[in-house]
Amino acid sequence: MSKSDVIVIGGGAAGIMAAYRAGQLGARVTILEKTSRLGTKILISGGGKCNVAHDGPLEEVLRAFRKNETQFIRPACYRLTNRQIVSMMTERGLNVYTRPDGRVFPLDQTAKDVLAILVGYLEESGVEVRLDSPVVGIEAVDGRVTGVYTGEPPEAHSGYRMRNAERKQFWPADRVILATGGSSYPNCGTTGDGWDWARDLGHSIVPVRASLAPIYLNLEPSRVEFSGVALRDVVVRARQGGKEIARWRGDLLFTHQGVSGPTALGISRVVAEFLPGGDVSLEADILPDLKHEEVLARLQSVSPRSRVLPVVAEHMAERLAAALVSDIGVEPDRTFAQLDRKSRNRLGEALKGWKLGVVRTVPLEKGECVAGGIALDEVDPQTLESRKVGGLFICGEVLDIAGPVGGYNLQAAFATGYVAGESAAR
Ligand SMILES: Cc1cc2nc3c(=O)[nH]c(=O)nc-3n(C[C@H](O)[C@H](O)[C@H](O)COP(=O)(O)OP(=O)(O)OC[C@H]3O[C@@H](n4cnc5c(N)ncnc54)[C@H](O)[C@@H]3O)c2cc1C
Repeated sequence: MSKSDVIVIGGGAAGIMAAYRAGQLGARVTILEKTSRLGTKILISGGGKCNVAHDGPLEEVLRAFRKNETQFIRPACYRLTNRQIVSMMTERGLNVYTRPDGRVFPLDQTAKDVLAILVGYLEESGVEVRLDSPVVGIEAVDGRVTGVYTGEPPEAHSGYRMRNAERKQFWPADRVILATGGSSYPNCGTTGDGWDWARDLGHSIVPVRASLAPIYLNLEPSRVEFSGVALRDVVVRARQGGKEIARWRGDLLFTHQGVSGPTALGISRVVAEFLPGGDVSLEADILPDLKHEEVLARLQSVSPRSRVLPVVAEHMAERLAAALVSDIGVEPDRTFAQLDRKSRNRLGEALKGWKLGVVRTVPLEKGECVAGGIALDEVDPQTLESRKVGGLFICGEVLDIAGPVGGYNLQAAFATGYVAGESAAR
């Protein structure tokens, strides 16, 4: 096998950007991609629209990550900023628009067009792309990488970990970029392969947990009927032992298994972290702009002739309103004149914290990304080179980075990929 200057393992957002940048700087670069196409997660991102970045001052964008993640990705994000990522797209014909919340999307195109532009960059910089080329191991001698092994392509990617597979072919290279992503959506080829090799090479792996995932609840059968119904602009709170552990404002979608939508995704990482420590319950504040006393005052001022159900249904679908009213033990056709003081207080309490249920699990494989991965203090944030193995560069979701919903994760993958490619080429 002719020797490449740089081998990139994984053709996702980080790997593509790394390969492009290394090729642009004159390195002979090969991408080894396990599946039969590049950028599968880019294609499904943002519901097929691809929320390509998050607009706004870079420091604000960085603050959306956890503190250690912010510190780690800051140098890379200044090297390839959110606005430069968008420019890379718009220069090649992508029209974009920015939502009021800062999320940048293609205007009249889709994730396919985003991927086509990225592949165009790859072609331009002379990168060789090898599809159906699953890497099964990284070789290092005396603390420096010497190349990688590929094996047989798996018949089905789902759940297939490329660890103990037969080593078929050696690809020599003294610079290797590890960009195998996380382990959610395993059908995309992302089955966490990189963590096993990194561990074997001396890296620590921060325990991998769900992030940006739906939350499954222990649902009563009557609650399953709510599947597909949403609550708009509520605050969802997670509690453990009565103490609030996470909250998120936005929409909440009921599903067959529990809840999803921006609020559920927003709290899912913290819920997954706390779950091993005991029960976590969820509740929704239906009137987040009002204090508890203000809600009670409002209920007090409702006409005594009004029935309870329609008043609650002003804030949510009638099916949900009926369930909330039944939860506090009030007949739905009662009028406010028939509500005693205790029931009125219970109604106020339910509107400020409607109990949604106890969490059963947060399914890691359904998350838009995973938290955990290769420990950040073992990688140089200026170059993305491993502090354990010379010539090994690490970028994207395989690292212990997980941003919120909003274009942050692609931003982190593109920026760390760019710097890994640049450093490897030098
Ligand atoms: C449904 C969904 C929607 C999302 N929407 C958005 C969004 O709108 N905006 C946003 O910012 N983020 C979004 N994300 C998150 C974002 O897509 C990921 O964080 C990002 O793609 C990570 O990039 P990566 O290059 O590190 O990994 P990936 O893009 O996952 O790429 C890793 C690549 O490595 C390959 N690979 C794995 N193992 C091997 C092996 N052994 N040999 C060779 N190749 C291998 C995989 O096949 C894959 O192609 C979404 C994710 C999902 C699942």
